[in-house]
Amino acid sequence: PTAAPSVSPLDSARALLQQVFGYGDFRGLQAEVIGHVLNGQDALVLMPTGAGKSLCYQLPAIVRQRQGLGLTVVISPLIALMHDQVGAMEELGVAAAFLNSTLDAEATRRIEQQALAGELTLLYVAPERFVNPRFLGLLSTLDERGRLSLFAIDEAHCVSQWGHDFREDYLQLSLLHERYPSVPRLALTATADTHTRADMLERLQLQDARVFISSFDRPNIRYRVVEKKEPRAQFLRFLYDEHREDGRNGHRFDAGIVYCGSRKKVDDTAAWLQEQGIKALPYHAGLDAATRAQNQDRFLREDGIVMVATIAFGMGIDKPDVRFVAHLDLPKNIEGYYQETGRAGRDGEAANAWMAYGLADVVQQRRMIDESPAHEGFKQIQRQKLDALLALAESTDCRRVRLLNYFGEDTKPGYRCLNCDNCLQPPQVWDATEPARMALSCIYRFQKERNQRFGAGHLIDVLRGKETDKTRSHRHQDLSTWGIGKGVTDTQWRAVLRQLIALGALEVDGEYQTLSLGEGARAILRGEHAVRVREGTGEGRVRTAKKTS
Ligand code: ADP
Ligand code: ZN
Repeated sequence: PTAAPSVSPLDSARALLQQVFGYGDFRGLQAEVIGHVLNGQDALVLMPTGAGKSLCYQLPAIVRQRQGLGLTVVISPLIALMHDQVGAMEELGVAAAFLNSTLDAEATRRIEQQALAGELTLLYVAPERFVNPRFLGLLSTLDERGRLSLFAIDEAHCVSQWGHDFREDYLQLSLLHERYPSVPRLALTATADTHTRADMLERLQLQDARVFISSFDRPNIRYRVVEKKEPRAQFLRFLYDEHREDGRNGHRFDAGIVYCGSRKKVDDTAAWLQEQGIKALPYHAGLDAATRAQNQDRFLREDGIVMVATIAFGMGIDKPDVRFVAHLDLPKNIEGYYQETGRAGRDGEAANAWMAYGLADVVQQRRMIDESPAHEGFKQIQRQKLDALLALAESTDCRRVRLLNYFGEDTKPGYRCLNCDNCLQPPQVWDATEPARMALSCIYRFQKERNQRFGAGHLIDVLRGKETDKTRSHRHQDLSTWGIGKGVTDTQWRAVLRQLIALGALEVDGEYQTLSLGEGARAILRGEHAVRVREGTGEGRVRTAKKTS
């Protein structure tokens, strides 16, 4: 008689995937991750938003519970997210609960009892629980009985100060390894550059964990960056006219998110859009909790709501049909940009990521870094990250390639995605090496000859030889660089300066946002480094490129 073929844990997981979740098969790296976790080993999973990270712990939780290994503890930073997930699990017939500050003592006790009685498959908790002695006691009891099967650390980048969502409470999670060394851990995040990744592994003591990285490409998102001139008019044009992959134009009746840099701008922009007859709602941390909850709820439930928000909005929002994300101000770094734009098109249908940015944004972001109370080393990293974002915004080649390379993903040389502004409408590029040298030597003159520093506006006036009260009072007409850049327009000068900042040749300092020479200046002044600048950012309609097969 032949022995019955042994069923691997992954096979039984696949069967449960169909029975419990109703999905035909695993997606992407899910099978590999789940197989690894079912082996009882640690892992860090990096997958873009919408790739299906939750399943990587939900399914092992079910399998391990059925094997009598106890429950899976999911650490999640957001209460709303826990509610949603517990609701979704219960609908699938999986026993799940959460412990957080919204529960009273009685409800808490009931859930603890369920956990101890082995009735729960998934227990969601906020990171701050890990300083709660009572909760730690519960975990120790479960651990001693061999009833802790897995720790899943969601949004794991929150542990890193280099990431954009640092949460102090996450630091405590290093104790998981010390206290419960035999319980496997699975950390998950949708965002991590190489720097954050290393930091995350170290802080969570996951150096020996296997790292799973799936492609961060979101092929259905079309990226576009325009030069900020009249942002409101530009945004309206985008909203009404932007060409879409599906042949329709504009996003007039679509759900979308508009990110602004400040609460006040959120309020102003939302009010203005409402005046334009658009169903816009504001969202930021300055609104009271009830208003925030109500606006979020309407965004999720009603069609065609435009949420105008600060970055306080978005994490854990699972709305599949967000058709566009617009940035009216520059995000802090590429991770932020990627995360925020990643909220568009989770259903896989075509979506637009549109951003308007200008020199003032760069200056503003620099200033925020400079004036923050953080220590210098931290600020230095923030500046580097901002520079990487500027390089993306100023780039004349494929944006997607830039984005993917930033996250450590290689692309074939010369690859073009055909779904970003630069691929669809290659920008005119001009050689601005000479003007760049003019600007740098003018700043050099200010610094060396007069020991003065000025902002971009004044610099451009001097370069173009435009007399103002300020040029007269400083007698800048006498400088050898006076008027040497007459042939370059104001707009072009701004583009040159942005590019120089992106290259690190110029730095923006202090309260008055003055310009000074940066490390990259020398190579340009010596003519060792060419400066190429885009000729205006394509404001025209993006043509759809012919797809060649
Ligand atoms: P993430 O946390 O990575 O942003 P989610 O876990 O929320 O993504 O999953 C995104 C969507 O994909 C969810 O609606 C989920 O139900 C669905 N999904 C996940 N895995 C699969 C699969 N193997 N087959 C079909 N749908 C899946
Ligand atoms: Zn491209």
